[in-house]
Amino acid sequence: MLGTPLNSTNDKKEGLQIMATFDLTGRTALVTGGNGGIGLGIAEALAEAGANVVIAGRDEVKNQAASSQISRNGGRCRPVRCDVDDLEDIDATIDETINAFGGLQILVNNAGIAAGESPEDMSDALWDSVVATNLRSVFRFSRQAFQAMKQAGFGKIINIGSMYSLFGSAQVPNYSASKGGVVQLTKSLAVAWAPHHIEVNCILPGWITTDMTRPVIDNEPFHQQIVQRTPAGRFGEPKECGGAAVFFASSASDFVTGQSLAVCGGFSIA
Ligand code: NDP
Repeated sequence: MLGTPLNSTNDKKEGLQIMATFDLTGRTALVTGGNGGIGLGIAEALAEAGANVVIAGRDEVKNQAASSQISRNGGRCRPVRCDVDDLEDIDATIDETINAFGGLQILVNNAGIAAGESPEDMSDALWDSVVATNLRSVFRFSRQAFQAMKQAGFGKIINIGSMYSLFGSAQVPNYSASKGGVVQLTKSLAVAWAPHHIEVNCILPGWITTDMTRPVIDNEPFHQQIVQRTPAGRFGEPKECGGAAVFFASSASDFVTGQSLAVCGGFSIA
């Protein structure tokens, strides 16, 4: 039954059907930045696992294209225009999600930007804009989604960190600080909301082929350096973050919270 903890009396009596715990049928997921890259890979995976999906991004053409793609493949999807830097947009997006599908049980805080400068040359404006989109939006969206999840009796929040959640960066210190903050915020929300059966976890993608990494891929020496530094010997594809997302979105992870899972071909441990 949707939202029922797995250690309920019925599960003990009937035995736990493990694959069924990954089924997201009847759950609704909101994916920020779900109109491309890793967000779209995750949105597709959640839809395949049975969830209703809302794609929230600024670019309405991309939102519509991503939504149509998921619908064509049999998923239930709706595009919503949303700038995650804007609190009113966040409230409106949550309302639209609940109106469309009757609830909100899964929030994927994926929207992010990467623009950097050496710390000594970085302007306050550049610092603020990256931290606002990558970290403040995770807090705001989670805070605004909390009431709906509390009301439902359970919820799943999945945040997207980075290898730069673990490593420092001379080129993008603002990005690195924001992504390190995402890991700590994940732990704090997890501690605060575990009593409400709201699990909060984080995915740390390694180098994944998307628009964000296109400049790196087009820089052949840098690209090769990363490929050689990655034990798997390649970049990942957006859909490869989908398995971790389905796990964290599903009842299979009901006793897992505050964790960060690297999906990185070994980059983080080499
Ligand atoms: P993309 O540039 O392909 O996608 C970024 C997404 O974020 C877009 O859908 C974009 O939508 C959305 N977005 C950005 N700013 C806002 C905003 N203010 N409001 C709403 N949506 C916004 O990047 P990736 O798919 O690579 O990145 C997705 C996440 O994964 C990011 O958090 C990134 O930091 C993280 N990541 C990526 C890695 C990689 O190797 N690609 C590695 C580690 C982490 P729109 O165009 O409509 O604004």
